[in-house]
Amino acid sequence: MPQTQPVLVRLPKGADLLDALRDACATRGITKAAVQVIGALEHARLGYYLQDERRYVSYGLPEHCEILCGAGNVSLKDGAAFVHLHLTLSRSDGSCLGGHAMAGCPVFAAEALLLPVPGAELARGFDEATGLQLWQVQPG
Ligand code: ZN
Repeated sequence: MPQTQPVLVRLPKGADLLDALRDACATRGITKAAVQVIGALEHARLGYYLQDERRYVSYGLPEHCEILCGAGNVSLKDGAAFVHLHLTLSRSDGSCLGGHAMAGCPVFAAEALLLPVPGAELARGFDEATGLQLWQVQPG
C-alpha cells in the first residue's frame, strides 16, 4: 500500500542525498510527491543547466555545509521514482551557494518531509523545446 500521507524521514549519515531520498520514496511506494529537506552535507555537488548549450555543468562545494533549503519533487522517469531537488547551501561563514542537486552530496544529517500527491502518475519525458526531461502531463 503506497504511502499517501505526509511523512518525515531522517536520512542516513553517509548516504548520497538523492539516493537516500529516492530510497525513502521507493520503500513507501511514493512516485509523486513534493520534497523538502534541511540538514547538513559533508560536501556537495551542484549543477546548472546551460540553456543555450542544453547541458548541465556541475561545481563542487568541497567542505561541510548546511542545507538551508532543499526543495523538490518526485515523479516517474524511465518507470522509476526520480527525485528532482534544488539546494541552497551555506558555508561556515554564512555565505551561500545554490543549484540543482547532483550525485556527490553525502549526508551528514538530514531531515526530509515527503508530501505524496494523489492522482494519476506523473512521468518525465524528453522535451524538444528545452532539451530537458520534463513532465509530460501537467500536474493537477
Ligand atoms: Zn533542477
